[in-house]
Amino acid sequence: MGKVYLIGAGPGDPELLTVKAARLLEGASVVLHDSLVSREVLALIPATAEIVDVGKRAGQKLLTQDEINSLLVSYANSHEVVIRLKGGDPTLFGRAGEEIEALRAAQVPFEIVPGITAALGAAAAAGISLTDRRAASQLVITTYSRGDETLSSDPFAVTPALNWAAISSNTTLVLYMPGADYAEVSRRLLSAGQPEDLPCVIVSNATRPNQKILHTTVAALAAQSKLPAPALLIVGRVATHRIDELARVGTRLHSDGFARRVAALHIRTMEASRPRPQ
Ligand code: SAH
Repeated sequence: MGKVYLIGAGPGDPELLTVKAARLLEGASVVLHDSLVSREVLALIPATAEIVDVGKRAGQKLLTQDEINSLLVSYANSHEVVIRLKGGDPTLFGRAGEEIEALRAAQVPFEIVPGITAALGAAAAAGISLTDRRAASQLVITTYSRGDETLSSDPFAVTPALNWAAISSNTTLVLYMPGADYAEVSRRLLSAGQPEDLPCVIVSNATRPNQKILHTTVAALAAQSKLPAPALLIVGRVATHRIDELARVGTRLHSDGFARRVAALHIRTMEASRPRPQ
């Protein structure tokens, strides 16, 4: 019985692979990969290795998830090391859960090798800090579109829908798979109470040679033409290079802190000036 490595291939740039992922790929004899894995990363796999593309391309399904699960188990029966290579990090919107479950059920040993998820590749590409303390205190990583194929009779297979109204003004929202319809994303954000001028950045092919970055706002997003897949959307005050956008929230935080410091000073002054008991 062999071992299966669920490896994160990162967002595209092969230099963003972990040292462990690069080492395992260089020694690979069989690799099952998604279509999201970049050509540059695939180029690191030895020519002698068997490479299976189990990816699904828009509408044209190559293999079902059940077929991929069975394939992993059967390769593990005949190979010492099997590599399951996924874009970004394998555990984020990568269906790692189903594969882990199948491997456990078949008692196949496995190991997860984390990768840099697209949100982090995209934020780095856009030159922004997802949790810039002047504008954000939390990060929500979610997905906009999910194909019907993710829905099954198993209640645990259904990803609960995002509660758009729960997104507060200090949240940075990263939307994977923003879908074909930016107008619909824009409409949902607006109807959940997000301000029209809230900054957004769309990053397409982050960390790849054909990377594209587009800065816009929640309202203007509706009219943007679609950037090539894979792309994601970062929404929030941090999604800008304009310091005044950050400062709008930052000022409030700063003045809150300032007011507290002034009040504390005032209390100390009062104590100091209080007449000492004789
Ligand atoms: N496991 C992956 C995500 C798989 S879902 C990860 O951790 O990154 C696929 C979605 O990821 C795409 O629709 C897109 O929204 C996003 N994505 C993946 N690679 C990307 C890239 N290089 N640039 C921008 N978005 C990317």
